[in-house]
Amino acid sequence: MKLLIFGPPGSGKGTYSSRIEDRIDVKHISTGDIFRSAVKGNTDLGKKVKEYLDSGELVPDELVNKVVKERLEGTDDFILDGYPRTVEQAKFLDGFMDVDAIIVLDVTDEITIERLSARRVCKECGEVFHRLFNKPKKEGVCDKCGGELYHRDDDKPSVIRDRIKTYENMSEPVIEYFEGKIPFVINRCRKADAPIDKMVDGIISQLEEKDILS
Ligand code: AMP
Repeated sequence: MKLLIFGPPGSGKGTYSSRIEDRIDVKHISTGDIFRSAVKGNTDLGKKVKEYLDSGELVPDELVNKVVKERLEGTDDFILDGYPRTVEQAKFLDGFMDVDAIIVLDVTDEITIERLSARRVCKECGEVFHRLFNKPKKEGVCDKCGGELYHRDDDKPSVIRDRIKTYENMSEPVIEYFEGKIPFVINRCRKADAPIDKMVDGIISQLEEKDILS
């Protein structure tokens, strides 16, 4: 099964994908995680993308497309988080793969800001926590792998507003691009503290209702 998960920063893409991966047979693939791990390892890719990640700007399409195509090679069941983020990327993906559904996460800007300022991410495995609504069992330590949790530089208030604008200008048109081409699973969230498992149940029920989960 080939799923895309789409939404503004802080909409829960990483959190929901990780839970969905635990429940159905799909691999969570996040372009943001791929880039952060490259930066951490100071690889050639990491050196090329670092300044974009630090400023919250989008990595150029050509580079992202190449990375994603290589990563998806031979992978049949996945939930792709953070890609496509521009219409160019959507067209590129459409050119080499048939996607089964797009999960669209719809949240307000207030929720985005509230969630990102309290988000903490595992340095090792990328698991996502929230200081109030999705706390780790032990402060500062990842429940999944024991790694250290940190506050991403691009989750700081000065960068968040720019990331929201980039999403509105560059990424929202992707929804229009896929309309009528692939089934949509819409998840509307109007509360920053909405129970995660309930939201994930809702997504999985919609996948079942639309006969996407076989
Ligand atoms: P994320 O973890 O999905 O919020 O991504 C973190 C950062 O990685 C973004 O702010 C971009 O700089 C970069 N990035 C991730 N995915 C993409 C993409 N599909 N296109 C361009 N840049 C991306």
